Amino acid sequence: MKRIVLALLFIFSLSFAKDTASIIEEIVKYDEDFVKHHSKSYFEQFKNKQKPYITLVSCSDARVHTNIIEKDPINKIFAIRNIGNQLLTSFGSVDYGVLHLHTPVLLILGHSHCGAVKAALGDYSEEPFDIIKELDHLFIPLSKLKNKHMDFETKWIKGVQANVDYQVELALKKYEELVKEGKLTVVGAVDDFVGLYGSGEGRIIIVNVNGETNPEKLKKLPIFNKLPKKEKDLIIKRIN
Ligand SMILES: [Zn+2]
Repeated sequence: MKRIVLALLFIFSLSFAKDTASIIEEIVKYDEDFVKHHSKSYFEQFKNKQKPYITLVSCSDARVHTNIIEKDPINKIFAIRNIGNQLLTSFGSVDYGVLHLHTPVLLILGHSHCGAVKAALGDYSEEPFDIIKELDHLFIPLSKLKNKHMDFETKWIKGVQANVDYQVELALKKYEELVKEGKLTVVGAVDDFVGLYGSGEGRIIIVNVNGETNPEKLKKLPIFNKLPKKEKDLIIKRIN
């Protein structure tokens, strides 16, 4: 009996994790706290102009957020989010970050266990039209993997990586001049909260810089000069 009650409580807690009034209360309380801990001068520095240094294209997935990159991302990260961290579905926003705000870094951040990649690897024809439209763009990077025989976990993370590579490729085509002039670096990475790269959970694994994907070559790039070897070995990797 006790077991049944516990099971029912568990199911209940899953389906009603938070009621709407509690969600609104949380938003207001959090903001109250935020206002309390930030002085007028904090807002003064950016109230007239934003000056981010990263244009970020990441997945909308709730498990991926800017606080894994910056404790306080305000005025530092120009963030674009959509399902599958795609450029094609948000090129206007990416242009704004790169061409108007002139961020020196365009970071394309995929993540382990990406639902968009999983869906695009399978049959998503029953999804609503607008979801299909966005997932269709993942066809190109995933087409080579789709019918290959391997365990799904491997195929999934390889798909995430292939998608990041594809997005970097698109960015390089579009912003070729800026990259050549050294004004823009396109970084492809994976937020690995599952720990599939063997570096523990929650690491940002760098898999591609300006189209270079060989980890040994990547480690020699000047942009990693400030990192000790141990750190480079931990975060510059690929699943082949
Ligand atoms: Zn995702």
